[in-house]
Amino acid sequence: MKGVSILGSTGSVGCSTLDVIARNPDAFRVVALTARSNHRRLLQQCMVFEPDLAVLTDNGAADVLREGLQQAGLKTRLLAGAGALVEAAGLAQADFVMAAIVGAAGLLPTLAAAQAGKRVLLANKESLVLAGHLLIEAVANNGATLIPIDSEHNAIFQCLPDPGGRRSKLGVRKLWLTASGGPFLNTPVGELETVTPEQACAHPNWDMGDKISVDSATMMNKGLELIEAGHLFAMSPDDIEILIHPQSIVHSLVEYRDGSVLAQLGNPDMRTPIAHALAWPERMESGVKSLDLVAIAKLEFQAPDTDRFPCLALARAAAERGGTAPAALNAANEIAVEAFLDRRLPFMEIAAVIANTMECHGVEAVESLETVINADRWAREKAGQTVKEMGITV
Ligand code: NAD
Ligand code: MG
Repeated sequence: MKGVSILGSTGSVGCSTLDVIARNPDAFRVVALTARSNHRRLLQQCMVFEPDLAVLTDNGAADVLREGLQQAGLKTRLLAGAGALVEAAGLAQADFVMAAIVGAAGLLPTLAAAQAGKRVLLANKESLVLAGHLLIEAVANNGATLIPIDSEHNAIFQCLPDPGGRRSKLGVRKLWLTASGGPFLNTPVGELETVTPEQACAHPNWDMGDKISVDSATMMNKGLELIEAGHLFAMSPDDIEILIHPQSIVHSLVEYRDGSVLAQLGNPDMRTPIAHALAWPERMESGVKSLDLVAIAKLEFQAPDTDRFPCLALARAAAERGGTAPAALNAANEIAVEAFLDRRLPFMEIAAVIANTMECHGVEAVESLETVINADRWAREKAGQTVKEMGITV
């Protein structure tokens, strides 16, 4: 029986993780559940899974949950505030930590899970984008294990050789990250100026949180994933290619020196990578139905259009630049996406805000967590000003 803590349990990945755990009740016990403010859903989850600890970072929401837990007669301990996420990530009773908080807010708890030597199931790609070297180092120095949950990276993990139990890129020529192209793959570019948050969040293949849905629509998601893959698999950005594959059936590919290409396929359902990472190196039921290739019939591929998706080039440039550039890119993106979701910024200006921030950013080498946190803070302020200065009313 493995203890599992889920950071971001009320989100899309968090709920899918609990779905998989509920299908395998003899294998896992839920130790901690955390969320920002969704006290209703967290109470429901506490009632079903009876964790030792629940955390809400929003104090007011935590007060409501406290009452709910008491009324339900649950023994779950409750903590409030962002600092409690770090405690939840390091609890001794947990063997595995699912890092499924969205955005830079996931960095400190994810690092804490690595420092506590856990098996870290990493959905929160932003923590690798911000502080990849520091996170990879924390994993190595503390006997932790990092298993990617992002479907593309989980696919690559599955397609890499595993000599002597160590992931190795021996003989790998390239990694190919597939991308659906999102909801605007074929929308005339002129119409993108006026698209709404609702349209941007209506992903054709995946049901995800709002932030990553917008990132998929701009393809910044694939840019962040390029940086993520570089850290996870110790590959240069030059050796990572992006391939549009609208069906989201081939989740990514590894190309070897001898011309072999290994791919992982499956229905677009996050329960597959989640179950893979929970059971690894074994396999278990995930609730995902068999892939029906006859019904799908066609798998299509095309090169990404960088005029339509300027965020891809911005992310690649930040990956190549290294240092604090990816942290600044990520922060500017979070601010621009939030402004778009709040209807303060048109869709096409998301890339403009990020480009402006990156032009003004003095890139530094990442020597400590403080350097990263300072770059993140600086870029948030800069991007926030740019959003205001553009004086945009949608
Ligand atoms: P979501 O918005 O559905 O859920 C986010 C979770 O994090 C919620 O539980 C929320 O309460 C919590 N949270 C948000 N802000 C927080 C904060 N400031 N402090 C503490 N907790 C906070 O997001 P999601 O779609 O589940 O994505 C989670 C992460 O997984 C993201 O990094 C995303 O890129 C990655 N991911 C998601 C998918 C997917 O299919 N949804 C696929 C691949 C990767
Ligand atoms: Mg992905």
